[in-house]
Amino acid sequence: MLKVYNTLTRKKEIFTPLFPPNVTMYVCGPTVYNYIHIGNARSAVAFDTIRRYLIYSGYKVRFVSNFTDVDDKMIRRAAKEKISVKELADRYIGFYNDEIQKLNVMPATVQPRATSYISKIIEFIKHLINSGYAYQSGGDVYFHTRKFVSYGKLSDQSLDELMVGASEHTNELEQKRKKDPLDFALWKGRVDDEIYWNSPFGPGRPGWHIECSVMAISELGNTIDIHGGGEDLKFPHHENERAQSEAETGEKFVKYWLHNAFVTVNDAEKMSKSAGNFLTLHEALKKYEPNFLRFFLVQTNYRKPLPYGMEQIVQARRNYQRIMNGIYNLNQAIESASTDEKSSNITKQIQQFEHQFKKAMDDDFNVQNALTVIFDYLKWLNKSVIGIVKNYNNLKEIKKNLIIWLQILGIKELKTDEITDPEVISLINQRDAARKSKNFALSDKLRDELIQKGISIEDTGKGTKYRKK
Ligand SMILES: [Zn+2]
Repeated sequence: MLKVYNTLTRKKEIFTPLFPPNVTMYVCGPTVYNYIHIGNARSAVAFDTIRRYLIYSGYKVRFVSNFTDVDDKMIRRAAKEKISVKELADRYIGFYNDEIQKLNVMPATVQPRATSYISKIIEFIKHLINSGYAYQSGGDVYFHTRKFVSYGKLSDQSLDELMVGASEHTNELEQKRKKDPLDFALWKGRVDDEIYWNSPFGPGRPGWHIECSVMAISELGNTIDIHGGGEDLKFPHHENERAQSEAETGEKFVKYWLHNAFVTVNDAEKMSKSAGNFLTLHEALKKYEPNFLRFFLVQTNYRKPLPYGMEQIVQARRNYQRIMNGIYNLNQAIESASTDEKSSNITKQIQQFEHQFKKAMDDDFNVQNALTVIFDYLKWLNKSVIGIVKNYNNLKEIKKNLIIWLQILGIKELKTDEITDPEVISLINQRDAARKSKNFALSDKLRDELIQKGISIEDTGKGTKYRKK
C-alpha cells in the first residue's frame, strides 16, 4: 500500500487518488530565462521517478509541468540580449526539453506555457474580484490574503510569522498599493515599455502564482491528486496557489502536496546563484555521462537534501559501476546459458526481492531502501547465480526484473557497442592487414564474415570503424 508524505498535513498518508486508476499530477516547471540549475534537474528527476513508480503500480498518470515564460527575470534577460521574451522562452524551452530528456525524464503529458493562458488567467482574476477575494489598486490586482482563512497552513506559518517575512520582501510601490502586506499580485500593471496584455483591469501581465492555478485547473480539474515542486516553492508560491484556487472553486485544490529538498554543497548550504556555487544541468551534462547523472540525482530520497561534491561523486560512481557490472555479468551468463528449463525456486527468490523493492518504494518512494534491495540482488547474483544458474529462462527473468526496477529509477541499461569477442577481434585484425596489403579479395571475404557475426563496418579515409549492430 503506497503512502506519501503530504506537506499540508505533515504526515505520511495512504495514497488514494480521486478517480483511480487515474492520477493527476502537476509539477511546477522552470522559468525559461536560462539553463536550469542542477537543483531543478533533481526536482524533475524526483517527480519523474514518482510518476514512473505510479505507472508501475498500475495507475494512469496525466502529468502536467508548466513553463513560466513571462516574469521579471525573463523581461530583464530578453532586454539584455535584445531579443523578445518569446524568443528567449523558445530558446530555453528547447534546451530544457533536450537536456531533461538526456536525464531520461519522460515528457510531460502537457507542457503549458503561461502566455498561452492569458485569457483564462484574466477570467479567473475577474471571478476573484467579483467574489471579493481580490481588489484592484493602481493598475495592479491583489489577492486579499486574510479573506482566505487557512492561509499559511501549507507552509505551517502563523499570520504573525508571515507578516514579518512579508514586510521584508515587498518593494515600496507595491506595499503602498496593498491593503495588507500579506496580499500578493494577481495582475501587474504595465511598467514602461514592458511586454503586456490588455485586460479589464488595464494593460499588464499576470503575477507568477496565478498561472499555475489556472493551468493546473484547466488541464487537470478543480482538485488534483499530486502537486509537486521544490521545497522553496512551498512559500509563497504554493501557499498562494492554494489560496487563490480554493477561493475560486470552493473545492480542495490538491490532495497530496509533495516537495523535494535541495541539492546542497558542503555544510548543507543550498546551491544557488547568489551563493556562487551554481551548477547548471547544461554544465553537468558536459562533465558527467547522462545515465550516471540520473543515478546521482535519483539515489537520495527526494525529501532529503542531496549533497554534491567530489566525495559524493566518487561514491556514486562506485555504486553505479556495481549496477552496470551486474548487468554485464548477467548478459554474459545469458549468452552462455545451456538449458531452457526453468526452476520455480529462482522465481520465488526473485519475488521476494520484488516484494522488498515495492515495500521500499511504497514508503513515500524510499529510493535509498529500493537501491539497497537492488544491491542485495546484485550480491545474490554474484553468490548464487553467475556461473551457477545455467537456465536461459531463469536468467532472462532475473535480468528482466533488475531492468524493470532500474527503469523505475530512470536508469538505463546502456547498450555497449564495444567489441569484446576475441574471435571477432581476430577477424578485424586480419581484415585490416588485408586492406593494408591491398588484398581486396581477402578483405571482402572477411567483411562478409564479420557482417554475419553482427558487426557493422564503415570504411573511412582514416581507417575502418567496427561496431556491434
Ligand atoms: Zn507553479
